[in-house]
Amino acid sequence: MPRVKDSAFIISRTDFGESDLIITLFSWRRGRISAICKGAKRSRRRFPGTLEPFSLVSFEGFSRSPLTLTRIDECRLIEPFTAIQENLRSYFCGSYFLEIIYRCCAEGQANPALFGMLRDLFSFLATTPQIRNFNCRIRLFELQIITLLGFRPELSGCLDCGQTFDRSRQLYFAPQTGGLVCSNCTPKHPSAFEVSRGTVNLLNQAHRLDNKMRNQLNFTPQVEAESARLCRALLRWHSGQVFKSLSIMERHADAGTTTTQRNADTAGFQPNRNLLSQPNQPQRESEHEFSGCCS
Ligand SMILES: [Zn+2]
Repeated sequence: MPRVKDSAFIISRTDFGESDLIITLFSWRRGRISAICKGAKRSRRRFPGTLEPFSLVSFEGFSRSPLTLTRIDECRLIEPFTAIQENLRSYFCGSYFLEIIYRCCAEGQANPALFGMLRDLFSFLATTPQIRNFNCRIRLFELQIITLLGFRPELSGCLDCGQTFDRSRQLYFAPQTGGLVCSNCTPKHPSAFEVSRGTVNLLNQAHRLDNKMRNQLNFTPQVEAESARLCRALLRWHSGQVFKSLSIMERHADAGTTTTQRNADTAGFQPNRNLLSQPNQPQRESEHEFSGCCS
């Protein structure tokens, strides 16, 4: 079996037997992969506390191909991003992005730009959760990650009838088309919803912004709310799945959750609980549950 050496973010971990762990990673060279860490729960020498969600690690092991279960022998911590787990706002947002990677990244396909974006995102979540424009920053990360996943909406004209949009036209976003439709075509798209020019402008510019520009950009609550709705509709359409981290995040936001409440809410969560499989859709052998931190 070929030897592999790579770096990766830990997405989730699941106990396997008495001493092993099954983990999902998003790696630099091979994208999303599943791996077994033999003896990880016992060996502090080969796995020195490195296998927590959000952590960036380097690892060595063996793998037949990116689509088969990798066997990891040794891990080294590069950046733990532990502060994300210590702040509720960062924790819930970070869990949402881990779930995006889990559900929307093809297994075994490298995406170095997305890997770099995740590092920027986790650095932001770990260091600046109290920043005033936190929600705007998160929306920009969300829009840029959607672009890097290949889901960027088409905005040049109606995707149904082909008409271009002049400034007087009302715009609607139809998730199943992957872009905008005009008011005449909305009856054919029952899930379409209205979006403002400000949101469309943001969508047109978001993928061009570097980290410095992201820090400086602010937009209105209406644009922030519309872009959030649009991103989530798009992700749900492409993945075909409901994002559990979102409903948990919204529930805790409504309740003004404290750390104690969060721990109580997540205490009943067991690693083997199946969060990802759909009814009547058995898991593949190399796939395990998203047990990370959003449950
Ligand atoms: Zn149309």
